[in-house]
Amino acid sequence: MADTELKFRVVSALLIGALFAILGVLAASLWLTPSDEPDMQSLAEAPAPDGISVALNLSQVQRPKAPDAEIPFIQIEPLQRLASAIELSQYRTQPKVAIIIDDLGHSQGDSRRALTLPSQVAFALLPYTMHSQSLAQAAKAKGHELIVHMPMQPKDGQTDPGPHALTTSVSPVDLRQAIAWNLSQFDGFTAVNNHMGSRFTENASAMQILFEELSARGLSFYDSRTTASSQSVPMALAYDVRMAERDVFLDNEIEANAVHRQLEVLEQLARRFGSAIAIGHPHAVTFEQINAWAPDLAKRGIILVAPSTVLEERRSPLWRSRIRTAAASLPTPSR
Ligand SMILES: [Zn+2]
Repeated sequence: MADTELKFRVVSALLIGALFAILGVLAASLWLTPSDEPDMQSLAEAPAPDGISVALNLSQVQRPKAPDAEIPFIQIEPLQRLASAIELSQYRTQPKVAIIIDDLGHSQGDSRRALTLPSQVAFALLPYTMHSQSLAQAAKAKGHELIVHMPMQPKDGQTDPGPHALTTSVSPVDLRQAIAWNLSQFDGFTAVNNHMGSRFTENASAMQILFEELSARGLSFYDSRTTASSQSVPMALAYDVRMAERDVFLDNEIEANAVHRQLEVLEQLARRFGSAIAIGHPHAVTFEQINAWAPDLAKRGIILVAPSTVLEERRSPLWRSRIRTAAASLPTPSR
């Protein structure tokens, strides 16, 4: 009996011991199960398949950089912005050219001829002229963008920019009044550009008042660049006004071949920088050359757009990366 009892006790002890051993192994295996997260350090040090050790330093893995600060943008007429956005989405990658015709509104003949231009060409009308209001209505109906061609003080004291011109010699109150008068002579415009103005646009305190007024009204600015020292770029940044500068004058030389050559320069600039803006004047030869040149533009892969489309595109990261690439390819300027 004693033997049997002893055997029973030994077997029981062995079974209980085995049970605890199994439970222990189970508990240990649960405890040691790795989490879903891979061990980054061991992955980093794992040998590559070809046997070369990859020493990836995780502290040097770069985060994506924050996007560049947005180029200033303000609300203009919603329908205008919608039209620009549609135009952009259709032609996102193609070089674009825009044309502004300055000095319009003086003559009915010029106005009639200007209305034969493609509808993408923008009209910059002098506010004080006889025909600005009627031309504005007709042009708007045809789909042209309207710009107030704001008369501003030139450097040459003998040249008269016209009535209600903006000058640097008046009080801020009078300057604001002159701006308001010029912005109340016709309807439907979305931007302002300068008529003359080499004295005015160089004057920072006068330009500050102009850009305050543009910003308050959500108007864009096209600088005709009658002087290289214009303050428009810093003012546009400071007052959150969308702006662009004129790249090409079409008709400094009023002759067919000369105008055509300038249109070719416009195309070259657009190919290089993605977009370019030209300014022309109400000369018959300018209108004839634009009308002869525009229909074949698309065959050469270039799109004629309204100037606001150029402004819209220049907000995009695509344009900014293009301009950086183009700038990097330019030769270092010689002094
Ligand atoms: Zn002008």
